[in-house]
Amino acid sequence: MDIDDFFSRDITLLVGIDKARLLKDELNIYTYEDLLKHYPFRYEDRSRLFTIASLTPATSSVQLQGYVTNLQKIDKGKKKLVAQFEDQTGELQLIWFHNFSWIIKKIKPNVLYRIWGKPVFLPQGSIQMMHPEVCLVERLQKKKDKLLPLYHATEKLKRHQLDTKGIAFLQSKLLSQLRTTIGETLPNYLLTRYQLSSFKEAFQNIHFPDNESLLRQAQRRLKFEELFYIQLKLLKQKRIYSTKQNGKIFNDLSLFNIFYHYHLPFHLTDGQKQAIREIYCDIASGKQMNRLLQGDVGSGKTIVAFLAMLMVVSSKVQVAVMAPTEILAHQHFERFRVFAQHLNLNIALLTGSTKKKEREHILYRLKVGLLPIVVGTHALLSDAVSFNELGFFVIDEQHRFGVAQRAGLLTKNQVYAPHILIMTATPIPRTLAMTFYGDLDLSTIYELPSGRKPIKTQHYYENFRLKVFQLIKEQLLLGRQIYIVYPLVEASAVLDYHNLMDGYTSVSTAFPNTPIGIIHGKMDAPAKEIEMKRFEKNETGILVATTVIEVGINVPNATVILIESAERFGLSQLHQLRGRVGRGSAQSYCILMTDYRLNKIGKKRMEVMVKTNNGFEIAELDLKLRGPGDLMGVQQSGILNLKIADLSKDAAILEVARGIAKDIIQQDPNFQQPDHLVIHKEYTRLLVSAGDWNRVG
Ligand code: ADP
Ligand code: MG
Repeated sequence: MDIDDFFSRDITLLVGIDKARLLKDELNIYTYEDLLKHYPFRYEDRSRLFTIASLTPATSSVQLQGYVTNLQKIDKGKKKLVAQFEDQTGELQLIWFHNFSWIIKKIKPNVLYRIWGKPVFLPQGSIQMMHPEVCLVERLQKKKDKLLPLYHATEKLKRHQLDTKGIAFLQSKLLSQLRTTIGETLPNYLLTRYQLSSFKEAFQNIHFPDNESLLRQAQRRLKFEELFYIQLKLLKQKRIYSTKQNGKIFNDLSLFNIFYHYHLPFHLTDGQKQAIREIYCDIASGKQMNRLLQGDVGSGKTIVAFLAMLMVVSSKVQVAVMAPTEILAHQHFERFRVFAQHLNLNIALLTGSTKKKEREHILYRLKVGLLPIVVGTHALLSDAVSFNELGFFVIDEQHRFGVAQRAGLLTKNQVYAPHILIMTATPIPRTLAMTFYGDLDLSTIYELPSGRKPIKTQHYYENFRLKVFQLIKEQLLLGRQIYIVYPLVEASAVLDYHNLMDGYTSVSTAFPNTPIGIIHGKMDAPAKEIEMKRFEKNETGILVATTVIEVGINVPNATVILIESAERFGLSQLHQLRGRVGRGSAQSYCILMTDYRLNKIGKKRMEVMVKTNNGFEIAELDLKLRGPGDLMGVQQSGILNLKIADLSKDAAILEVARGIAKDIIQQDPNFQQPDHLVIHKEYTRLLVSAGDWNRVG
């Protein structure tokens, strides 16, 4: 039997109809492959012997060896059996509450036993172990010391002998069958070059490792394989896409040059220049651009986008810029309008709240090609919007804009696929970028424009509120403006609203002479915009807000952002919020207010925020603290159905896997070389199997 047949076998063949149904319902295990890839979540180390003296309250389950004495049945109260256990270094108490009659029969004095259990430290310092496993050392010697696998199982499974032991038993049955299968899922030259375990070794040792080192090797191989095939798929998609979609070549730089030499308001940073070069390479090359531009808040992505837009507009082709919110669309519009005026370029703003008459006018001018630049929200995607010739689509602050949505953009030009630039100020850790945007090209601006003063970040508990208000007062006296942000959790929208209103009232009382604005999700777009405008024009000194101000807003005169209940925000979000200040030349402050009761993760987040201003560093830490699903907001998307690899830990393996996948796709995109036949087979198997892999991307 080859791997293909083996993997696809229905689990019923192994366990019968009833248990198969349970495994399907409870663990989504349908096939032999599903079961084999139901990896242990942990291993009990039965290869190591501990001494009693070395135990600490932090010790988890351990294995000890020694003598059992003083076996005593206690009938008072709850019936139990107690005994003394001692080795050369100390003693502890064993306790059984039920089923102990056979233990009484079994245990003998002066015989060496090996026990397994979790030590519990009592306040006086003595140690207990409840319901330990007890084994005669004599008997044990015949078995090998091993790491014992522990498997996830539900209560229902446990009631039907499918607990961790039951599952281990099934795995061993499967593994003995696997031994007679033929095949490999990775080419031999990769196994040799990267010292990866073979397919069979890996499965044997992931379930029943003889020692730690064999386990690591098995994990490495299986993680590599998992990541390798995902990368292969992403890169193949990218290749198919870029060979299918011929991009239109734009190489008229006349407007670009005029703007660059005469109207650029500042010198570009090296990162900005590099990004522009990369974009130009794409759009002058004849391939369709699909590029993600990432750069920390304030790194100056807007001007990069504008310069890129000019490269297209020079050829009398249209450009659309889409922002996630009306506020942001509006702000972009204002900034682009100032730039565009220098070049006498028409530009319009199209959002859900654009009035009918104006909308019709805009739609008409887009259709006949009188309008080179349009800025807007998702309204741009509606069917009503059609272009004379759309050549370039810029998407701001939407790194979650997926493959499907990008495909939707392509319908806006029936002749060729417009170039696409996606911008994000949420730095994405490399591993995530490689997995989620494996099909995009990536430009990164690492530095901020020079001359910025780093934002000072401070963390205060509630009782320092007066001090914080003092700082705000001082800044107001200097003519600066303040953001005060309240968290928003959808689950309790009403409560949030109350918090916000309470906050507004107390801020109004504390700063009676300062005009205060308020902005939140329940307001309609025009109302929000009015508030935003007032703040931008410095008509309000303080803006009390929910996270609607999170993305992109630019008010350089604002120097303080006070974040209330900061513990309720994720790291990346806190960093985003902090980016609302520090946009001018003055010193800015970010103040994180939290409750006293701060859990470990909350504390860690505050420490990180105080310590670093670097968004890339923060993104990496956020990934470690929260995991990839939370970070990308795509828990269910399938791509995270990684069975063994962990994007927060396996960056090194991922880099290698991607590198190899890249080489292979370049040299042999259809896996036709003899030593790639095994890849071809596995790739095809993964594609057709109804497994999770199919949903990737
Ligand atoms: P983001 O990358 O967060 O979108 P923006 O494009 O909004 O950043 O730029 C933030 C601020 O920095 C803006 O006020 C912009 O005019 C300014 N800026 C951008 N690039 C430079 C630069 N090279 N030198 C000085 N200021 C710059
Ligand atoms: Mg921006």
